[in-house]
Amino acid sequence: MSERNQIRHGIEQVVERGMCIGCGACAIRTGGAIAVTLGSRGLYQANLATATSEQISLATRVCPFSDAAKNEDALASERFGDLPHDDRIGHYSAVMAGRLTEDDSVVQSSSGGLATRLLSGLLERRVVDSILHVGRSDGSELFEYVVSSSVDELLSARKSMYYATTLAEVGAALRPDKRYAVVGVPCFIKAMRLLADEVPALNRQLAFFVGIVCGHLKSTFFAESLAWQAGVPPSSLETVDFRVKNPTRAANRYDYSATARTGERVVRPVASAIDGSWGYAAFQPEACNFCDDVFAETADVVFGDAWLEQYQRDWRGTNIVVTRDARATEILRAAEDTGAVVLTDLGPDEAARSQAGNFRHRRVGLRVRLADDIAAGLSVPIKRVSPSTDGVSRGRIRLIRQRRDISRMSLEWFEQARATNDLDHYIDRMRTAIARYQRVDAAQRGPIAILRYLVRKVRGTKR
Ligand SMILES: Cc1cc2nc3c(=O)[nH]c(=O)nc-3n(C[C@H](O)[C@H](O)[C@H](O)COP(=O)(O)OP(=O)(O)OC[C@H]3O[C@@H](n4cnc5c(N)ncnc54)[C@H](O)[C@@H]3O)c2cc1C
Ligand code: SF4
Ligand code: SF4
Repeated sequence: MSERNQIRHGIEQVVERGMCIGCGACAIRTGGAIAVTLGSRGLYQANLATATSEQISLATRVCPFSDAAKNEDALASERFGDLPHDDRIGHYSAVMAGRLTEDDSVVQSSSGGLATRLLSGLLERRVVDSILHVGRSDGSELFEYVVSSSVDELLSARKSMYYATTLAEVGAALRPDKRYAVVGVPCFIKAMRLLADEVPALNRQLAFFVGIVCGHLKSTFFAESLAWQAGVPPSSLETVDFRVKNPTRAANRYDYSATARTGERVVRPVASAIDGSWGYAAFQPEACNFCDDVFAETADVVFGDAWLEQYQRDWRGTNIVVTRDARATEILRAAEDTGAVVLTDLGPDEAARSQAGNFRHRRVGLRVRLADDIAAGLSVPIKRVSPSTDGVSRGRIRLIRQRRDISRMSLEWFEQARATNDLDHYIDRMRTAIARYQRVDAAQRGPIAILRYLVRKVRGTKR
């Protein structure tokens, strides 16, 4: 039997089951024979229809959701095996919280601005010639992967783009004589590591891997929905800023802005949007339901938000950082010595605690989703947690399933709303789905949560 036939969940099952995240690794590996394009629900998807079986065999080894690819543990231990390991955050050298000290700079970034500080250091020290990261698009989309080769270019693409993108194009156009750092969510970093393992030229070119802690990705619909709710419909949308800091509130209660082609800019609290809470997982791709890597375990360094009480209070934003490469630690420590950044050493427990909700979704939730799909006779990838509902309360199981429904249905309802130019079609259905989610959530939390839910409901009815 060939290796391909022995793999139960390969790239074909990934695509068939809608678990493709659109990273573009398969397109790069096959020289474009597998096309990765934006679908009608605002997510990049691979098309295997015209690929030969040889091309599929190559692609399946670099697809982050294929069982033919090495998993995060294998990829990480080959590189960081000498470092201590924690089941939640992976291998680690330094674990820190920190941010830029200049307020004018830090407000231009999502969290503490350390990701851009590190990337600038990589360019300044000539560790790499250019950075592959996400910035404003020149084309028909709002955001895309861009190549920055100077600090000025880097600075023009700060903040988090909660938006579907692909590395298919920039990854296929790397210059043979250049070294690049790639910035990405954990599954994109894993895909690029897999590619670099398979293709010697890419192994030389992809010289540094910068991870972004990830709760889940969003379809391009998220930007459109936020903007439309702020009065800017998709047809007149110029851009969205997903993270506008507000000095009157805590860091996690940020605003967003939508700018129309006329130049008019509307700023609103993200909590005022029906789909603004990440807990509801609106527009989440199916791939994120099968992901167990929160801290980009295969990256040389990873940056997230320090969602811990002591940092959350500070509206300016603070990063959580895990380094695994001495050069990353050194660049950040050198910036601390000049007074450009402040850093505090933390331990893996605090880093993991800063992402408590993510771990519930990606470890406990994943076990339940795997068990559900296996029971339904569906193909699932092998993950680092086992399929089982054992030890998970009935209330939590219901919540996990309800959340998955919201992700799936939000994509369908928004697609219909766009087609009929009727935002209410989406809002009305989401309101009902979220009310159900809140009810289930309150029930599984206990009597005080139920009381709070009822009070909120009564207040909502009176308004
Ligand atoms: C989809 C997504 C989900 C996230 N989920 C979480 C979460 O659950 N918990 C958490 O703590 N943090 C999460 N983050 C990370 C967080 O929002 C910040 O990006 C991170 O803390 C870095 O902040 P900073 O101020 O250091 O970076 P900045 O100085 O603002 O720079 C950000 C850098 O990341 C690049 N970038 C932005 N968006 C993307 C993207 N989609 N793909 C690749 N590169 C990108 C930019 O080009 C820029 O170089 C998420 C980010 C994304 C994009
Ligand atoms: S490699 Fe990436 S783009 Fe290709 S099928 Fe897998 S997830 Fe999708
Ligand atoms: S949750 Fe996982 S699969 Fe989804 S975008 Fe983030 S890293 Fe990728």
